[in-house]
Amino acid sequence: SAKSAGRNRYCFYSQEMAAHTNERLLLEQGLRYAIEEKQLSVLYQPQVELANGQIFGVEALLRWQHPELGMVPPDRFIPIAEESGVIDSLGRWVLERACRDIAGLRNAAGEQLRLAVNVSAREFRREDFIQTLSETLAQTGFPAGALEIEITESTLQVIERSIEILGALKRLGIAVSIDDFGTGYSSLSILRDLPIDRIKIDRSFITHLPEKKDGVAIVKAMVALAGSLHMAIIAEGIESPEQAAILRQLGCDGGQGYLFSRPVAHPALTLLLADTPDPH
Ligand code: C2E
Ligand code: MG
Ligand code: MG
Ligand code: MG
Repeated sequence: SAKSAGRNRYCFYSQEMAAHTNERLLLEQGLRYAIEEKQLSVLYQPQVELANGQIFGVEALLRWQHPELGMVPPDRFIPIAEESGVIDSLGRWVLERACRDIAGLRNAAGEQLRLAVNVSAREFRREDFIQTLSETLAQTGFPAGALEIEITESTLQVIERSIEILGALKRLGIAVSIDDFGTGYSSLSILRDLPIDRIKIDRSFITHLPEKKDGVAIVKAMVALAGSLHMAIIAEGIESPEQAAILRQLGCDGGQGYLFSRPVAHPALTLLLADTPDPH
């Protein structure tokens, strides 16, 4: 009957919701122990100059190996970490780990390697954000001039406070890039009003290159925009040689994506850097 079907449907949804809530709780509670239980690690994805394939930097990407759930993707646990506040300690952990790893590599190879670290909105707005950054740089010996933080357009929504924080970063010599560029709401006013060093074209604009003509036009416009505002530009999610070729043609400086390398652990990165010929 309709009545029992309705009841069944109700049960079905409530079970599904309960399962969802349970998993969320499991993740939220698990995150609190992830650091001390040594379940976290950092992978590094190379960022290359499209002109010659030379690696100029790496992006640090957090990984969480949960004891029961296995590898939990950051798109699942970062939003939960943000809401629950655990992101503050996760963010400090990633920054310190990455600065140590990459400082060691720079010393060993005499590299000019840059390090990009993702910073979420909550971390960015913390009173002690700048202090945490400068303390970590001092403790790890990582040079401020080689550090870049990646934030999204939505993080910069509160303009007055953002101007303050970006000014402090600038004084320290830390660069700032806009991640997932083109997917937010107020791209252009942010570029006009704030001191940004680099824009990262979101993967969604790269995926369908070069088949989609509109895609080419948009990327072309972004490259021109970055050029006239004296900002660097890098394309995310490059998977094919055709995509790299068209981006090069359009004058895009940098690239990142599976074509060049997947995100790799520190030992594999060391090998990758040793394998890449130095053009200088
Ligand atoms: P994101 O910062 O935009 O990072 C790029 C994502 O694209 C990474 O996913 C990377 O593995 C993936 N990617 C790179 N090249 C390709 C490609 O050619 N094809 C495809 N399909 N994907 C590619 P990942 O590592 O899963 O991270 C997802 C997001 O989680 C990141 O997006 C970032 O927003 C967030 N995240 C990761 N680590 C951290 C962290 O330490 N702190 C914070 N706050 N957020 C982080
Ligand atoms: Mg990023
Ligand atoms: Mg991105
Ligand atoms: Mg993203």
